[in-house]
Amino acid sequence: MTNLDPTLPWSCLLSPYCDWVVSRWTTKTEAGLAERDYTVMTLGFAGETGEVAEALLAGATTPDGPDRLMLTKELGDVSYYWARIVRAFGLSEARCAERAMRYAPTARENAMLHLCARVGRVTELMKKRVRDDTLDAAVLEGALGDALGAWLAVCAQAGIGPAEALVLNQRKVNDRHARGVVRGSGDNR
Ligand SMILES: [Mg+2]
Repeated sequence: MTNLDPTLPWSCLLSPYCDWVVSRWTTKTEAGLAERDYTVMTLGFAGETGEVAEALLAGATTPDGPDRLMLTKELGDVSYYWARIVRAFGLSEARCAERAMRYAPTARENAMLHLCARVGRVTELMKKRVRDDTLDAAVLEGALGDALGAWLAVCAQAGIGPAEALVLNQRKVNDRHARGVVRGSGDNR
C-alpha cells in the first residue's frame, strides 16, 4: 500500500485511505471480521472523538490554543475508525463524502457539538445492531456521511486540512506497525 499523496485534496485521498485502513486492520479470526472487531471499531470511533474534544478543551485554557499536532493526530484517529466502519458494512465512502459536503457548511458553528451528536448517532445504530440484531445500512451510511461532515467542520474550525489529518494518521499507524507498538495506549508510542 503506497503512501497517500499529501498534495491531493482529501476527497481524492478518501478511497485509498479507506483501502489502507482495511489493510492495516488486524483481526484475531481467519474468517474475517468478528464481533470483537465491530465492538473495537465502534468504541474506537466514540473514544477518539472524546480525544478530539479533550485536545480542544486543553487548548481552551491555554493562550496559544489547542496543540495543533495533537489535534491533527486525534482527528486522524477518528477518521481511522470511521473508515473501518464504512468498509465493514460495504458502504460507499464516496456517497458519504457527497453527504458530508452538504452537511459540513451547516456545522460551521459548534462544530465539535455536531461531531459529538453525529458520532453518537452512529454509536446508537451500532448499539441497536448488537441489542436487536437489526441494521439499516442506508441509515448507517447517512449517519456516517453526517459524521464525516461534522469532522470536516471541526477541521475547518481548527484550520487543519482534512488531507493533512489523513496523511498524518497513515504515517503514525504505519510507523507503529513498523516498530511493533500498535497495541497499548499513549500518544508517544
Ligand atoms: Mg487518539
